[in-house]
Amino acid sequence: MARILITSALPYINGIKHLGNLAGSMLPADVWARFKRSQGHEVLYICATDEHGTPAELAAAAAGQDVRTYCDEQHQIQKAAGEAFGLSYDHFGRSSNPPNHRLTQHFAEALEANGLIEERVDRMIYSVDDARFLPDRYVEGTCPHCAYPKARGDQCDNCGRLLDPTDLIDPYSSVSGSRNIEVRDTRHLYLLQTKIEPQIRAWVDGRTGWQPLAKSIAYKHLDEGLIDRGITRDLAWGIPVLKDGFPRPGMEDKVFYVWFDAPVEYIGATQEWAEKHGKTWRDWWRLDEGAEDVRYVQFMGKDNVAFHTVSFPATIIGSDEPWKTVDQLKAFNWLNWYGGKFSTSQKRGVFMDQALELLPADYWRWHLTAYGPEGSDAAFTWEQFQSTTNKDLADVLGNFVNRIVKFAESKFDGVVPDGGAPGPMEAKLAEDIAAGIAEATAQFEAMEFRKAAVALRATWVLGNEYLQEAAPWTAFKTDVERSAVGVRTGLNLVALFARLAAPVMPFSAEKIAASVGATDLSWPEAGADVLDVLPRGQKVAAADVLFRKIEDVQVAEWTERFGGAEA
Ligand SMILES: [Zn+2]
Repeated sequence: MARILITSALPYINGIKHLGNLAGSMLPADVWARFKRSQGHEVLYICATDEHGTPAELAAAAAGQDVRTYCDEQHQIQKAAGEAFGLSYDHFGRSSNPPNHRLTQHFAEALEANGLIEERVDRMIYSVDDARFLPDRYVEGTCPHCAYPKARGDQCDNCGRLLDPTDLIDPYSSVSGSRNIEVRDTRHLYLLQTKIEPQIRAWVDGRTGWQPLAKSIAYKHLDEGLIDRGITRDLAWGIPVLKDGFPRPGMEDKVFYVWFDAPVEYIGATQEWAEKHGKTWRDWWRLDEGAEDVRYVQFMGKDNVAFHTVSFPATIIGSDEPWKTVDQLKAFNWLNWYGGKFSTSQKRGVFMDQALELLPADYWRWHLTAYGPEGSDAAFTWEQFQSTTNKDLADVLGNFVNRIVKFAESKFDGVVPDGGAPGPMEAKLAEDIAAGIAEATAQFEAMEFRKAAVALRATWVLGNEYLQEAAPWTAFKTDVERSAVGVRTGLNLVALFARLAAPVMPFSAEKIAASVGATDLSWPEAGADVLDVLPRGQKVAAADVLFRKIEDVQVAEWTERFGGAEA
């Protein structure tokens, strides 16, 4: 059995995540973690909140809280929402926790020892009235490209261009609104990525398991040429810049840039997990201490790929220490909200907590897996959500399960019936089902989630077609033994469907299995008998409705509440 380390891009701390965030990293990571666990592998799925940076400070200020209190609360909210969605991380850590502080300092020291860190003097915006430098979003002004008057120091929301704070025309402090602004010299640490570009490129060349989207984004950045990158910021909240354990002279008011410390938290959170559970973390991360056989898989949205394929590797490779690096990287496109974008800051779209007020997690998990933004961007609409839920879950899967279990209850004393022998119809079904399992397995292995969902649905359709043909309700009148074979086969299909659905719909899978008295949710092995495994005489009992259809009136209500086509 393999040891598999899985991480999904860290959700940022500034509020609960929307369905787009879920669909593009955390959900597929969870589905894949569950798939691998169900095959019996040793899986460690790690995630954490990303808590540093200007947006955290600004969101805390907007909420009237100090930033630590704000992060404490938001971390709990995100953790609870993830668990309610069935996200099965082994640990959900925090980038503000001590392990990440220690590791980030460690990497900075190792990089400096290797000649890859340099102090440079920057020209930065300084607010005289606030008595501080204004990094990134702390300064706003007029965009030099499109004249938008509220462009931020790091990016213009109107034209989308990346900016440097000194680019802004007529800048003002977003802390106080003051226009008493100067440009002053200040020292910052730079990571000399230009010096290790060849090693990063060679490392990327050697990665064979990355998805094409990830690889092309990595090469695009390498081909454009890496630049030396500022890795410190003038902020109070974050990981302080130390030297030999003390504040680095001249950098007492600075912290590491959030993008320097956030990916290090993958390791930090593993350390948190190890401390909490009395486990070891180094054999997951250090090649010289047992991580050689670990397969490391990362999930993320496409906007994060450059950081994971170039920036974070620069930290790791530049340390010249034997750290585990990513073997497989699965990147997702955007899930859009109708024609536009989901937005945390503008509260547009459906958020994880709201979604669960409307329907149980599995409805969303199925939809976002089967119709997610995988090969290209995808749009969420209420109408499509309604249509796929009603067809796939209610009509095909739910109907199959309820129909056969209820029939067993009414005609076979609510047990898996004995008697009769399988015939050609069952032989054909066994062949088709074996092919269906093989297809689903292959697509999950390849992390092709939409195709895996298609394969699952195809097995459900096979089940319905079999029942249609075997028609145990008709056979019951003339040939009870023949009917028993049909019912027994159908009930075994129910148990099988639960196992196949478990990675995507863990809550429903348990209910489906329980309806035929089963608890085994392991992934079926190729070639194993799956159509006659339930003990004869085992009790069965139909669950309450497994999947309810979404009514037009609900779609109207939700469109009213959350917006729709016009949003
Ligand atoms: Zn602009």
